[in-house]
Amino acid sequence: MSPDYEIVIGLEVHAELKTQTKIFCSCSTAFGAEPNTQTCPICAGFPGALPVLNRQVVDLAIRAGLALHCEIPAMCKFDRKNYFYPDLPHGYQVSQFDFPVCKQGYLDIDIEGQKKRVGVTRAHMEEDAGKLVHQGDITTTPFSLVDLNRSGVALLEIVSEPDMRSAQEARAYLEKLRSMLLFAGVSDCKMQEGSLRCDANVSVRPFGQQEFGTRCEIKNLNSFRALERAIEYEAKRHMEALEDGTELFQETRTWDEEKQMTRSMRSKEEAHDYRYFPEPDLPPLFISREWVDEVRAALPEMPEQAQQRLMEVYGLPEYDAALLTLTPETLDFFDRCVQEYPDAKTIANWMMGEFSRLLNQTNQEIGDSHLTPDHLVQMLRLVDDGTISGKIAKTVLEDMFNSGQSPQEIIKAKGLVQISDADTLLPLIEDIVGANPKVVEDYKSGKGKAMGFFVGQIMKATKGQANPALVNELLKKVLDSIQ
Ligand SMILES: [Zn+2]
Repeated sequence: MSPDYEIVIGLEVHAELKTQTKIFCSCSTAFGAEPNTQTCPICAGFPGALPVLNRQVVDLAIRAGLALHCEIPAMCKFDRKNYFYPDLPHGYQVSQFDFPVCKQGYLDIDIEGQKKRVGVTRAHMEEDAGKLVHQGDITTTPFSLVDLNRSGVALLEIVSEPDMRSAQEARAYLEKLRSMLLFAGVSDCKMQEGSLRCDANVSVRPFGQQEFGTRCEIKNLNSFRALERAIEYEAKRHMEALEDGTELFQETRTWDEEKQMTRSMRSKEEAHDYRYFPEPDLPPLFISREWVDEVRAALPEMPEQAQQRLMEVYGLPEYDAALLTLTPETLDFFDRCVQEYPDAKTIANWMMGEFSRLLNQTNQEIGDSHLTPDHLVQMLRLVDDGTISGKIAKTVLEDMFNSGQSPQEIIKAKGLVQISDADTLLPLIEDIVGANPKVVEDYKSGKGKAMGFFVGQIMKATKGQANPALVNELLKKVLDSIQ
């Protein structure tokens, strides 16, 4: 990125709230049902059908607001946001315009060890739209189908201040926001399923300039990677335009994952294009201080508190503590292990190392995998008592991860028990040493590598099952006995 320009980024995030039923009716919100089986006159937009606000939605909105250090005003209200789209049966979306449920909060993110505070302008409740199901190629198909199962599902839109200055900061903000919402139990935050959606507002200005540059909104960012790439692409496009003197337009663009570029969708609409007006079918909502206090008192441990606890109680480094508190499932896994096994750092190392590698490789979340805290602890004990070596433990872990079997079962089935018997190892060591007189000479002349060579050969011969400490001890004896 050119040092002469500054990138300015703000994010709008839609989180689907974790409720059993929709925001204004009692239809189910379960994902994956047959099209149009979870609808009623209210969420299908029949004239005259009246909405009733779901209390749980407000509860979760307050909970999210408190997690994001927001103010919860005593009054908020709903408004109609008018626009036409085939998946919007009313011709308007019920949202909140000038009096949102949460305002003026913040999130602290960590950028290479430096804390940075990103402002949260507001968070408001709204209903989701339905979904268009295109038949074949969208440019040639004669028709599309409408599925209204999603229509009326409760969303919380969280709008940040334009406080971020790089793609990396934007990613850190979204990761932190996701983590906060997961811990607060507000949303599932599954980007692939669309229960967490992110739009990025990006502009570029010469360094030192106060005024913002022309802003583009990028939609269709359904992974952290897409968010980063899209911002980088868009910022570069703006910088090039500023250099060439090409005019930039305020517009809405979409991220094309296949071509790895943003494309123009439409000129960006302003708030006044939506003709917002108060929703006449819902009265203003008054939120008592008692209600807010009740929600606050019921808030579970949040990631920052958990991180502190891991550092203070278990002496873990800040880096480890931050990784282990990214999701409630990760923290829970660690907590369950550490109750049974006292060495927190060893647990952390296995979780952040092999376990995390396997999760990434198979694109799974910790809750989806077969590995249980119990099995990990059993495996660590088997390493401690010398039954298996640390190296073999990696194989055992991968097997537990894939099959869900206990470490004892795997070790027995595969014959992986560590060889800690001198009578078995000694003849093998003597054979290998005897077959390599040149390396013995190297050893005698003080070449450090010779020892490593022999250990490697012995490990190879025993398929990694020899007890390394014992091998070292016996090997030295054998070598030193040679004149
Ligand atoms: Zn309904």
